[in-house]
Amino acid sequence: MTDPHQILHDVFGFSSFRGVQGDVVDRVMAGRNTLAVMPTGAGKSLCYQLPAVAKQGTCIVISPLIALMQDQVRSATENGMKAASLTSLSDDWRKVQDDFVRGDLDLLYVAPERATTDGFGRLLEQARISLFAIDEAHCVSEWGHDFRPDYRLLRPLLDHFGAPRLALTATADKRTRADILTQLGIEEEGLIVAGFDRPNIRYHVVPRSGLPSQLKRLAKAHEGAGIVYCPSRAQADRVAEQLRETGRTSGAYHAGLDKPVRQANQEAFVASEDMVMAATIAFGMGIDKPDVRFIAHAGVPKSIEAYYQETGRAGRDGEPAEAWLFWGAEDFARARQRIETETEEGRRHEERARLNAMAAFVEAATCRRAILLKHFGEDPPEICGNCDNCIDPPPTIDVTVVAQKLLSAAFRTEMRFGVGHLADVLAGKETEKVISNGHNHLSVFGIAEDEELALIKPVARSLLARDALRADSYGGLSFGPAAKPILIGGEKLVIAVPPKRKAAKRTAADYPHDPGFEALRAWRRDIATEQGVPPYVVFHDSTLRAVAATRPTTLAMLSQIEGVGDKKLEKYGSSLLKAVEDIDANTPA
Ligand code: ADP
Ligand code: ZN
Repeated sequence: MTDPHQILHDVFGFSSFRGVQGDVVDRVMAGRNTLAVMPTGAGKSLCYQLPAVAKQGTCIVISPLIALMQDQVRSATENGMKAASLTSLSDDWRKVQDDFVRGDLDLLYVAPERATTDGFGRLLEQARISLFAIDEAHCVSEWGHDFRPDYRLLRPLLDHFGAPRLALTATADKRTRADILTQLGIEEEGLIVAGFDRPNIRYHVVPRSGLPSQLKRLAKAHEGAGIVYCPSRAQADRVAEQLRETGRTSGAYHAGLDKPVRQANQEAFVASEDMVMAATIAFGMGIDKPDVRFIAHAGVPKSIEAYYQETGRAGRDGEPAEAWLFWGAEDFARARQRIETETEEGRRHEERARLNAMAAFVEAATCRRAILLKHFGEDPPEICGNCDNCIDPPPTIDVTVVAQKLLSAAFRTEMRFGVGHLADVLAGKETEKVISNGHNHLSVFGIAEDEELALIKPVARSLLARDALRADSYGGLSFGPAAKPILIGGEKLVIAVPPKRKAAKRTAADYPHDPGFEALRAWRRDIATEQGVPPYVVFHDSTLRAVAATRPTTLAMLSQIEGVGDKKLEKYGSSLLKAVEDIDANTPA
């Protein structure tokens, strides 16, 4: 079997290539070196797995994480490919090596440290190699965010064997891409970059107001698996606890937990269809779970890149998924403080720019996706139709005057007081603190109208985010560089009118309750338990939904559905048909 389309259908169960997959596979089949930059969820693994099946010999896959390898081997095997890995955890070294030498492996996964040993080189001499696939290729570059020195030692191995090489990564800016090409010896024309858009992810950005209830509402609205990223370990523990109160299965993951606990929580998450993980950003790298239905951030991530990567873990299966960012002005205040005190001088400028980009994103009243894609150098349409601001465009309001009043109040009170006190001064309230500081005699005392007072908090949030105000560790507000232009420079401040209604209602319609699908999920759970694999390894949600919708009655009909390849048809086909029959039997006509 060497026709790529045939293999796509028979082995993977897909009717067509997605995005640039076809181009990448074409190049690889033609024996040319390639660097594929494809966002998470775009289907990178198929780009080397399919040629690995089509070509004679074994595809050597260099991959940085053992956990990831095991997952890949399992999924590949499930699709009927002959796959194995050589790692410190493998207990079948002898057999794997024999299989390889006999030409009995499509895929052999190995870490860069092992790939570059003499012993491994000698092993490779003994059989035919179809392809080198270098996964997470940004690790080869010092510019990438995850440099792994061993990747730098791969070049001689690649040159020696001369099989075509395919490097893959989801995150590489221009400089990193150029570096990967040089380091791995790939011609410039071999670069293929897929679009960064993840159309199935719906972005929402809302100010925090009662975070526990916001998160609980979110967890109730979404049945599937989710991750809540928390800024601290303590908060991750707390959030896990709060989510449990809603009846959801939840766990925590952060570096403060003992390794076995962490490991167990991670495994439970991967295996489950509905667990919510409250985690620090330590969680997620190397977790290849396609059916994560929502990602929430309890605080502002440190950059758009980080935000994009973390939210990218939602909906890798292409099904609808959501990203929720809950932000507060304190996040920016804290981050700015950290930059000024802890970051080395030379990096501060860059870090400030990162934070400002993040601030512009959360503050925006325009399409979120457009902002993200522009950030990555794309030229997207102005309206995506699948983010909070597109679905429900927020009215904007010119708050320049309120901002000027707030800035004046901060200035007149010597830039030491928090927003609550400043609001009291502007409102003309004679509190003890106001009187004792003599603030009732200031020119700004009582100058704000009632409707302006209601806007002080969102205005303060906006001024903090854009670095017009800075908060000290007691919340005392002083001017940042962006204050003067607003106070005296004629610059306007326009914000989205703060939302009154609360998070996450719309979703019930997006995930209609489908008893057929639920029944098939139950069937899948049984199979998965029996086989000791996560449910998505058996079939993806999208496949089960399609089965529930079309109710196939024969194996031939079943084989037409996306995600049903020959191997799975043989293995699960009749059992699944039986499950379909049972839905009908149990559903009143
Ligand atoms: P990546 O490694 O790029 O994040 P994966 O290789 O894990 O992505 O694939 C993401 C998901 O897309 C997987 O669930 C995979 O089965 C699915 N997929 C890949 N290629 C196709 C295709 N051509 N048609 C439909 N689904 C696909
Ligand atoms: Zn949009």
